[in-house]
Amino acid sequence: MSVDKAFREMVRNEIESQLKPLRELVSRLEEGTADLDKLRSVAEQLAPLASAVGPLFGVAGGGGGGGAAAARGAGRRGPGRPARAAAPAPVAASSGGKKRGRKPATEGGARDCAIIGCGKPSRTKGYCAAHYQKLRMLEKTNRRPSAWVDYAEPNSVEDLKLPRGRAAAKALAESNQKNAG
Ligand SMILES: [Zn+2]
Repeated sequence: MSVDKAFREMVRNEIESQLKPLRELVSRLEEGTADLDKLRSVAEQLAPLASAVGPLFGVAGGGGGGGAAAARGAGRRGPGRPARAAAPAPVAASSGGKKRGRKPATEGGARDCAIIGCGKPSRTKGYCAAHYQKLRMLEKTNRRPSAWVDYAEPNSVEDLKLPRGRAAAKALAESNQKNAG
């Protein structure tokens, strides 16, 4: 028996003795009765073989950085853009301000103008806007007809044909004289 052969035999026996528990475990694995904790401990005991056998059974190898990397990955956002901040709601076109314009002339059961044949709805004291202006003017110039009373019945007051031009000036002068006298 050569030295070389003896040495090899020795190594073989050593490996055999060390691998014996592993072999038992492997056989038990095949039967499905092995527990991984025992397997792990055995793998750690087999220091020279651990680096080779360990990864097969989930024993942490040299690096050890894999867990940390996995943890970092878990916190990562999924694909796609992050949700945008909600845009401000569009300002309401009309924010309940006051209503513009005049109220409807016929509101509140408004009557027609007191002047016969006018036909417009009354606005002030029973007269339409135009005829109330005329009434105010006649009143100022002391020419208000007695028929032009406030709140006269609709279509009950005869319209007054005012003189125009020179006649108007004459009529106005007469009324002023009346006022003076
Ligand atoms: Zn009128």
